[in-house]
Amino acid sequence: MANRDRLCVQLMSDALFIYPDRLRGGKTETLQGVLPAEAIGPEFSGGIAVGGEAYLAGERLVLSLDLDGEVKIPCKICNHPVAVPLGVRGYCHVEELEGMRPRGMCRGKIDLTPIIRGILLVEVPPFAECEGSCPERKRLEEISKKESHGFHPFEKLLP
Ligand SMILES: [Zn+2]
Repeated sequence: MANRDRLCVQLMSDALFIYPDRLRGGKTETLQGVLPAEAIGPEFSGGIAVGGEAYLAGERLVLSLDLDGEVKIPCKICNHPVAVPLGVRGYCHVEELEGMRPRGMCRGKIDLTPIIRGILLVEVPPFAECEGSCPERKRLEEISKKESHGFHPFEKLLP
């Protein structure tokens, strides 16, 4: 039930929906809003601030997007979550309106959430490390140094 309430609030807030019919006649709509983590994914815990504009070029929807927020990904050394800032400026996204009808468009409006999620997934770095250099790194380097001097059980098998 709580989930359903949250979904309704989200759907009632028009901040991140586009109504293509309102853009006809060369109008440009300014985008401004925050996508909450519930909509975009728990790793974007502070939400994603969305800015930019939308307009039509013939039967194509053109979005110019500014996205700001942060993503939490595990440190490659110690596995603790690291907050990595994300900032995207003027990302240009073009969609054929005809192609959107079966999926993104519902009652004449387009939800920008899946488009923004797709952009963010490309922007998230594959690795992160605590504060640029994990405190655990030194300890791991010591261990791997010790191991390389010590026990080599398969040494005799090498040619
Ligand atoms: Zn770490």
